[in-house]
Amino acid sequence: MSLSGQLYKLQQLDLELQKKLQELRETNHELSDNKTLVDAESKFFSYKEQLEDVSRKQKNSEWELEDLQEKIRQIDSKLYSGTTKDPKELVNLEKEVKGLKSQIKPKEDTLLGLMSQIEEIEANIKTTIEEIERFRQEWEQKQETFGERKSEIETLLAKLKEDRIALAQQVDPEALNTYERIRLSRGQAVTKVERGKCQGCHIAVPTSQWQKVKAGDLIQCNSCSRILYLE
Ligand SMILES: [Zn+2]
Repeated sequence: MSLSGQLYKLQQLDLELQKKLQELRETNHELSDNKTLVDAESKFFSYKEQLEDVSRKQKNSEWELEDLQEKIRQIDSKLYSGTTKDPKELVNLEKEVKGLKSQIKPKEDTLLGLMSQIEEIEANIKTTIEEIERFRQEWEQKQETFGERKSEIETLLAKLKEDRIALAQQVDPEALNTYERIRLSRGQAVTKVERGKCQGCHIAVPTSQWQKVKAGDLIQCNSCSRILYLE
């Protein structure tokens, strides 16, 4: 095999290696990405907090309502027990009880509002628990699928690296240096010559150079410096 042929083959291995490394990165990303599950879990905790908060308000509201009813009962019993004879005091007590009774309806409304909030939050919690369960199953499935893919890629990568080392050992060290140097600046170091043109920059290759390439010499394109290769 000509030197440029060896380098071309080396480049194919390098490209394949790059591709597999990229796949490995993507696979690792998939394996570590559990954002949907984490988001659903934090949603669950925030609903739990809301539930505690509103439940506390509900208890307070119930106590307030009981207090109010107790006060009304006490005044009512004063009014109707006959112990209070003073008409002025009776009028005051009646006024007071009226005022207290007018507070009952708004307090009951508040309590009902809180109870319906609790129902709503409980429904949200139920939905979120179902979501978490589903996301967790998906996550486990994903771990299995991408875990398998990862080990496949790693096996392939190990094989490619071995092949790469073996091939690089056969290549003339100076040519290998040139290859690495161009690869760093151009991405791809070796390019085919087709219909008399360098396929890296699409500039025509002079006949004299083309003949040298054909003879197996290591020739770089005049315009883009890539190593020219003829199949
Ligand atoms: Zn070129």
